[in-house]
Parts: sequence; structure tokens; C-alpha cells
Amino acid sequence: MNIHEYQGKEILAKNGVSVPKGNVAFTVEEAVEGAKQLGGDVWVVKAQIHAGGRGKAGGVKVAKSLEEVKNYSESILGSTLVTHQTGPEGKEVKRLLIEEGCHIKKEYYIGLVLDRATSRIVMMGSEEGGTEIEEIAENQPEKIFKEVVDPIVGLTAFQARRLAFSINIPAKQINKAVSFMTGLYNVFVEKDCSIAEINPLVLTEEGDIMALDAKLNFDSNALYKHPDIVAYRDLEEEDPKELEASKYDLSYIALSGNIGCMVNGAGLAMATMDIVKHYGGEPANFLDVGGGATAEKVTEAFKIILSDQNVKGIFVNIFGGIMKCDVIATGIVEAAKQVSLNVPLVVRLEGTNVELGKQILQESSIDIIAAESMADGAEKIVAAVQEGK
Ligand code: ADP
Ligand code: MG
Repeated sequence: MNIHEYQGKEILAKNGVSVPKGNVAFTVEEAVEGAKQLGGDVWVVKAQIHAGGRGKAGGVKVAKSLEEVKNYSESILGSTLVTHQTGPEGKEVKRLLIEEGCHIKKEYYIGLVLDRATSRIVMMGSEEGGTEIEEIAENQPEKIFKEVVDPIVGLTAFQARRLAFSINIPAKQINKAVSFMTGLYNVFVEKDCSIAEINPLVLTEEGDIMALDAKLNFDSNALYKHPDIVAYRDLEEEDPKELEASKYDLSYIALSGNIGCMVNGAGLAMATMDIVKHYGGEPANFLDVGGGATAEKVTEAFKIILSDQNVKGIFVNIFGGIMKCDVIATGIVEAAKQVSLNVPLVVRLEGTNVELGKQILQESSIDIIAAESMADGAEKIVAAVQEGK
């Protein structure tokens, strides 16, 4: 689960990790009020959306008067920001963070992730802050330093110091950097984060070390432990199709291709996406209807797939184990009744009650392309979608 920058900063501040002072605003009046309350004479107006790259897209503006705070807030609030992380459709800005302007001396990068290869938390640092870390990883990998954390002892002061020195934090600020890194690590562990990225971490003219940006992501499987984090959820930032799917307990992830996939079991769903790509197609989604799906769930799954305007064909690939093929078939027939199916549909069924399932589909009036195997199905849906173009 993703949260907004101002929420991430709230969590950091509560845990002793230093961030600039700021106020969230939902309206222009609140933005001006927030700036007045902060005092000072420089503020930063920051669009709050669940995506990075806002600065380059015009979503971060430095204001030197309350008048400017008002003007920038007016132009950013309600606008649609297109950044390299939002996709071409962009995201509408509904909240702002009004923050005290900070005298930046230098920008650094600090990030924490769970490294699946070592099964350990890794803290990464770079003195090339502010820019996209992916770019640095690509072009100047030697500029990224890593500390792998032993889960028993946690991030040691020695490791934090070594990282701080590696990224050339001045000797005078090493202790501040160490306590920043330790605090960030503690938040990461205590709150079950999957990502904690501070880009940029800044050294200020006054000699402070603080997080100017904060991206915290949380492990959805651990959210039951953290009602305080769940309270930060902003449903308006989430894909409506994914939200709908979660209501029916379907594992659905929207992707950018045009072949809708309905599969049971995460492993088979992954393999299905692979095989669709192998035959030159692009999956529009990952969808696992689960082992114990009912006809109603299948119907909803079908509707969600079809609500995606990009879908130009559907591939149903079911292996009936616990899941019975006739249930899937009934769900498909029911869904086809409720929504108009105007794209090619390839169905591959195998396993429990397969004959019954095939019979239900045959007896329905739905136009179905039957497939004999996974490969056959993938080939057929890719061909059908290409023909339709
Ligand atoms: P994004 O990563 O989405 O572009 P950031 O929060 O990192 O957004 O802001 C982009 C840039 O704007 C930062 O690298 C920094 O240079 C500047 N900036 C952000 N917040 C402040 C602030 N409070 N004071 C001064 N400059 C800021
Ligand atoms: Mg940033």
C-alpha cells in the first residue's frame, strides 16, 4: 500500500526522523492558511499524488510570498499531473503539501528495500540525490553504495557511518546522518514497509540533515497489524478496477496490454502472462480468481476485465483442481449475459468437470474460441486480437 508524501513525513516525524515542517491542504484557502501558520518567507507548494517525478512535471513550486502560494495552489490543485510514474493519463491533484522552504546545500539519496536475493533489508545511498535513482543505477552504478542489514542485529551504527562516509556526507554531519538512517531503518521495520525512499535527503545551509521527500510503501500482508497506516489509505489514488476486485477477494493487478487474462492460481496466472508474451501479445492484467471461486466471483472478474477499455481480447485459462470447470463456465455465461461481450474470447479448460464445463459453454450462445492447451490458447488469442486491429 502506498501513501502520500505528507503522510510519510508525519510517520517519520513521529519517529524522530527529521523532516521540514508542513501542512496538508485540500483547498487554496487551506494552503494559504497553512503557509501563514508555518511563518517564514519561503514556502514550497507540493502536489500530493501517489507518484514521483512531480518536480519535473511542475508539481513542486517554490513560493516567495503568500500571493505566490495562492497562485501556485490554484494552478496545481485540480490539475492533472503527468510524470514518468503516472502513465500518460496522469493523476489529478486533490491535495497539496505546503512546506517550509529549505536552504538546500546538497541533495543525497537514501533508500531501503527488501532484497529478495539475500532475503535481507538493504540500505542504499548515493550522493547523486534529487535525480532518478534508476538512471544512476544504469549509468553510474559505482555511485550507489549498499549496506545489507543482518536481521538479528539490525542496522548497526558502523554500517550507517560507513554509508554516510561513502556518499560523502561532511564529517561534521556524520552523526546526524547516522541517527537519520537509524531512525529510518526503525520505521521501515516497525511499520512493515516494503520501500522507504528519501530522495532527496538534504544537507541544509544551517547544517541539518532532513528528508525533503518521502516515499513509503507498506507490505499489504502486514497491514492487519497497523490500523494507523491503513487509516492513511487514499482510495482515490488506487486503480478502480483493483479496488473493485479486492471487494470480491480477487487478486487483480491492472497492466498496460490488451489481452485480458482470467486464470486460477497465481502460478498459472504468471505462466499465462508469460506465454501470452511469448506469442507476441501483451497482457492487460494479472488475475487470479483463486481456488474456491464461485460463479458470482467469476462473473465479477469478467466484468472487471471488460471494464478496461484497452482489452481487445480475453483468454480464460483454467486448471480445475479445487476449482471446478463447470463453475467457471457458469460464471462466464452469466457474465456474458450481464455485459456485452464484443471482443474475442478464447477458453482453455482442463481438469475437474471439464466435460460439463465445455458443455455449458457450447450450449450457451456465446462466441467462444476453444483451445486445447495453454500454448494453443495463447496463440489463438494473440492471433484473434491482431486480426481485430
Ligand atoms: P519529486 O521527487 O516528486 O519530484 P520532491 O519532493 O523530491 O518531488 O521535490 C523535487 C525537488 O524540489 C527536490 O529535489 C528539491 O530540490 C525541491 N524541494 C522539495 N521540497 C522542498 C523544500 N521544502 N524546500 C526546498 N526545496 C524543495
Ligand atoms: Mg523526490
